[in-house]
Amino acid sequence: MYAFDYQRASDAQGAVKTLSGDADAKYLGGGQSLLAAMKLRLAQPSTLVDVTRIPDLKALFVDGRVVKVGAAVCHADVAENAEVQNALPALAQLAAGIGDRQVRALGTLGGSLANNDPAADYPAAVLALNATVVTDRRRIAADDFFRGMYETALEPDELIVAVEFPVPERAAYEKFKNPASHFALTGVFVAKAADGKVRVAVTGAAPSVFRAQALEQALAANFTPAAARAVTLAADDLNTDLHASAAYRAHLIPVLAARAVTKATG
Ligand SMILES: Cc1cc2nc3c(=O)[nH]c(=O)nc-3n(C[C@H](O)[C@H](O)[C@H](O)COP(=O)(O)OP(=O)(O)OC[C@H]3O[C@@H](n4cnc5c(N)ncnc54)[C@H](O)[C@@H]3O)c2cc1C
Repeated sequence: MYAFDYQRASDAQGAVKTLSGDADAKYLGGGQSLLAAMKLRLAQPSTLVDVTRIPDLKALFVDGRVVKVGAAVCHADVAENAEVQNALPALAQLAAGIGDRQVRALGTLGGSLANNDPAADYPAAVLALNATVVTDRRRIAADDFFRGMYETALEPDELIVAVEFPVPERAAYEKFKNPASHFALTGVFVAKAADGKVRVAVTGAAPSVFRAQALEQALAANFTPAAARAVTLAADDLNTDLHASAAYRAHLIPVLAARAVTKATG
């Protein structure tokens, strides 16, 4: 590690002011990705602005058909929240499957989304549920938020305040996890809205989370595991790494989608 300043923000306005005045400053969530990047010298911020004590970013509640999760809410709090478990169990279950106990106690929704790791779980929920990312200055639709590997639509000093997840008619998430980190080797989130529209988001398989349109069409016509399993996906744009080939991931996606449909309809 090297020397840097640490500030604890008490409100969103103050946090944004610090970052807008210093191009080398960064927000600090749970530090589960940023501190590791700093240790590897992949990031060398001048100042860390801790946003985890800002009350607006700690809010977590269900408002009618919307689950609103503050950016600084840790994964364990989403997993264990009775209102979330009741309104949107797929989201609570996804949060419960992130990393290990320590990662879930520290890692935050905002940090996960701003980081946009190709294998992170939350981006799949945000995209499949057609959620809205609320920042200090605007509302960003899920389809516009994820731009590529570790890239998002956020401006350098833009602060995620919360995410609004509409409650679907049915939803479930299935991941084939890396046994060491629990990151998604491939993960598939399936959501069916009350109007019959289906959104399927895939994480872990490509440089960034993406929607699988072939699966969406097949499941909109017939929301069954068999319909998902019958879909064949090309491996062309998928990742090959030491954990799995692109062809293996292409095979996994319909398999996981079918399991998610089984869970969502069970
Ligand atoms: C061992 C291990 C296992 C893990 N396994 C999984 C897993 O299975 N699935 C998974 O999805 N994730 C996994 N993670 C990642 C973890 O879930 C964290 O959520 C993630 O690292 C980032 O969240 P954080 O709060 O720690 O963010 P930080 O590391 O503090 O920050 C990450 C980035 O987000 C920015 N940031 C933070 N908060 C905000 C905000 N409110 N607005 C704008 N920018 C912000 C920071 O400036 C930084 O650039 C794992 C991590 C570890 C260390």
